[in-house]
Amino acid sequence: MKGYAGKLLRVDLSEGKISKEEISESMKKDFLGGRGFAIKLIWDEVKKIDPLSEQNKIVFATGPLSGQLLPSSGKMVIASKSPLTGGYGDGNIGTMASVHLKKAGYDMVVVEGRAERPSYLLIEDGNVKILEASDLWGKNTFEAQDILEKIHGRNSGILLIGPAGENLIRISTVMSQKGRAGGRPGMGAVMGSKNLKAVVIKGTGSIPNFDDEKLKQFGKKGYEEIKGKENYEFWMRQGTMQAFEWCNENGCLPTYNFKEGVFEFSKEMDGYVLEKLHIDRKGCPMCSMQCGHIIKDASAKRAELDYENVGMLGPNIGLRSLPQVALLNRMADEWGLDTISLGSCIGFLMEASERGVIPEKIGWGDFEAAQKLVREIGGGEGLGKLVYNGVRGASEIIGKGSNRWAMQVKGLEISAYNCHGCPGMALSFGTSPIGASHKDAWIIAWEISTDRFSYSKEKVQKLIEFQRIRGGFFESATVCRLPWVEVSFGLDWYPKYLEAITGNHMSWEDLYQIGDRIYNLIRAYWKREVPRFGRAWDDPPDRWFEEPPSQGKMKGVKIDRKKYEQMLSWYYELRGWDEDGIPLKETLDQLGLEEVSRELIM
Ligand code: SF4
Repeated sequence: MKGYAGKLLRVDLSEGKISKEEISESMKKDFLGGRGFAIKLIWDEVKKIDPLSEQNKIVFATGPLSGQLLPSSGKMVIASKSPLTGGYGDGNIGTMASVHLKKAGYDMVVVEGRAERPSYLLIEDGNVKILEASDLWGKNTFEAQDILEKIHGRNSGILLIGPAGENLIRISTVMSQKGRAGGRPGMGAVMGSKNLKAVVIKGTGSIPNFDDEKLKQFGKKGYEEIKGKENYEFWMRQGTMQAFEWCNENGCLPTYNFKEGVFEFSKEMDGYVLEKLHIDRKGCPMCSMQCGHIIKDASAKRAELDYENVGMLGPNIGLRSLPQVALLNRMADEWGLDTISLGSCIGFLMEASERGVIPEKIGWGDFEAAQKLVREIGGGEGLGKLVYNGVRGASEIIGKGSNRWAMQVKGLEISAYNCHGCPGMALSFGTSPIGASHKDAWIIAWEISTDRFSYSKEKVQKLIEFQRIRGGFFESATVCRLPWVEVSFGLDWYPKYLEAITGNHMSWEDLYQIGDRIYNLIRAYWKREVPRFGRAWDDPPDRWFEEPPSQGKMKGVKIDRKKYEQMLSWYYELRGWDEDGIPLKETLDQLGLEEVSRELIM
């Protein structure tokens, strides 16, 4: 099939061995790329191991759309067995590394083993080397990026970790280009456990597509369509921060560790305030709607903001100043910490302090304390030791019922949407395949604009449709979903792009089938790796069922547990899973996953 480099690069850090393998046609046809390639490889090769042992593998995978001349295509997926959740973990990242990897002649890189000393991987087309990184170890991601750019050139694709990943903090991510981040479920710690500071990629080749001329025309039309969209101008002014005011109005802004859904100081830090502070923008390669807004942070340095990090490091910890949030966000990026999980951990600690279940006094909105916590969490010191494994881990240490307000699902912290009044979005967090990520099924806007409080089967069907598109297609293709989500860029473009690239006609039905195969394989992986895995893993935190907010539109509203359980049962039925959420043999067989069903049953 055209449009792929057709090669997998395998690097064994323990043996210092580098090899190249063909990627089969059936792999491309059945799993498309990105997340699809990653889960197939991880299912086949990463079995019953400790995620931080040298037996784990980390995958960097592109898809057929990655790095092509079409809207927002500069993405790749980073995946591994997660040290935070114990199951399958991944995340996409916008990076020049995605563009360079295919030009270097590979669709994916698999790194296994553990280097004896701090190392980094250099991929220059066919020339691949494992190099010494002792001088880089301990450097934050901005410093290390500068050093690597100086050595290898500013245009190199660089993926790297900060001290948090080196210290095996389970909420650490992989960073790129001083602000792009990916791999929320601890992919930074997996790199750290391998003594792998960075992957530097420089590719000079090109991948022949089926019809380059057509792709060029389609790509151009796609960019033009995006620019002409009604919401484009407003998007360019506020980006994802347009969600801030909307969430506050609808009572779903995460506030005080998700106790509330409205923030009394929201007007001091919404998208309109951001517009006034904005000095520049940043984003991923190939993107015409770059969503990273740069402002001057509280120390007058350049720092980036988007809705998720403002929600989680602002209202969720009671902080009401965008420059202060921006400073925390820059610190998180430098340390290589996931900003969503970090905001959740800090909010959790502030609530633990308020409730007196820890002796330390940390007040809501205490900026000095929050900065100290970022350093302690990144360094695995002080109170950081309590949350190094996320809020689930912290609640297991503290006990005293703190699991009820540890805002996570499957071990991954919930992103910036409070769901007391959004049962569909709660189910979306509950059933997301990597833990509580909004990336797979951000149904909240549709839910609020339709019948918000219903627990209908139609809502569950819609959720599955969203998962197929977002978590199935976009994560495998691999391109950014925001043009579709935010400015209503036409979904009908994507089969056209795929056909021009690969020569294969694939309808949305075909793509849904690939998405279902990927979801089922991820679910099977959880079951194989976590033997107790089952229905309870799809439960959102008790807070949403038991403690309604005291203010705003959602005052007094909470999720009805019985009705949530009914929706979950419908979800399983529609997915072809049993009442415990485990894929049925016939479902796996229908998707061509017969070997998986045999292994699960054994
Ligand atoms: S919209 Fe934002 S996340 Fe998506 S590709 Fe553009 S810059 Fe990256």
